[in-house]
Amino acid sequence: MSRQVLDELKQQISLLDYLQAQDWRPARRLSRGRLMGLCPLHAEHQPSFLVDSTKNLFYCYGCGRGGDVIRFAELYHQVRFPQALALLQQWRGLPPLLRAAADFYRMQLHRHSEAVAYLSQRGVRSPEVVEHMGIGYAPGGCLRGWLTQLGFPLETLREAGLVTGAGYDAYIHRIVFPLEANLYGRSLSAAAPAHRFLTGTKGGLYAWEQVRHYPEVILVEGLFDYAALWQAGFHNVTCSMGNHLNGRQYRQLCDRPRTVYLAFDADTNGSGQQAAQSLACRLREQGINVRSVSLPDGHDPNSFLVENDDARHFRLLLEAALP
Ligand SMILES: [Zn+2]
Repeated sequence: MSRQVLDELKQQISLLDYLQAQDWRPARRLSRGRLMGLCPLHAEHQPSFLVDSTKNLFYCYGCGRGGDVIRFAELYHQVRFPQALALLQQWRGLPPLLRAAADFYRMQLHRHSEAVAYLSQRGVRSPEVVEHMGIGYAPGGCLRGWLTQLGFPLETLREAGLVTGAGYDAYIHRIVFPLEANLYGRSLSAAAPAHRFLTGTKGGLYAWEQVRHYPEVILVEGLFDYAALWQAGFHNVTCSMGNHLNGRQYRQLCDRPRTVYLAFDADTNGSGQQAAQSLACRLREQGINVRSVSLPDGHDPNSFLVENDDARHFRLLLEAALP
């Protein structure tokens, strides 16, 4: 990550907001935007934790630690720098540019019958799931103009990967799903690569904050699988966006004891099942209770639910899932 991106992140995240989101409350307000309270980093009875809300910095007179919001996240969550960054990005949500792009794509969805037809063919029909996931459509050829009109410089659009080097919209004829800090685009056309992400990481598990408190979690590899399950009433579903989990997604799944139902694709070449098996072994080593959902050959959870338009059939698969 470049120096510039880091500085932007630090500017966009208010240390005070972040502290308050962690239930920190100031005991005293001093002059010039400075506040004093109990230190969240160690136990104390007298406030010695100073926050300078204008400089976005903290210092504790008790434990002698101080720094910016990233340093705070490192100390508070006891994680290394890259994980602290990821936590902060997740907390902040989509950066303004990607938020604007996602809003634009959402407006396009119902203006383009080919997009609605594609969603319907993949079984995504309920307005609730479209709303819940913020699903949009990239027709191509009009995002750049919209965003530059909003004041985003062309160079910024290029850096984010929204626009190609030649200045064209990068996503053309794609269903778009906003992720925590990226936009995933699924091509409608078989001629283009099916799956695309913008510059940067795919991020953590999909909608993890809404799922992490369930004692039983269903993990799928595709967002259309997620959509079909969510629509069928399985709200304890999350998605790794591919059958290989990144380090962060893996740590999320292991952050407390739980049961994970692995519902990866039953591809004819066996790659989904192989990935599920190796993941199952690694999760069990961390004390996670794993159950492998076995779908009929050639099916993924999406196609299974499109064919068996009834939550009951999928529930039977869950019940039959082997430890
Ligand atoms: Zn302290």
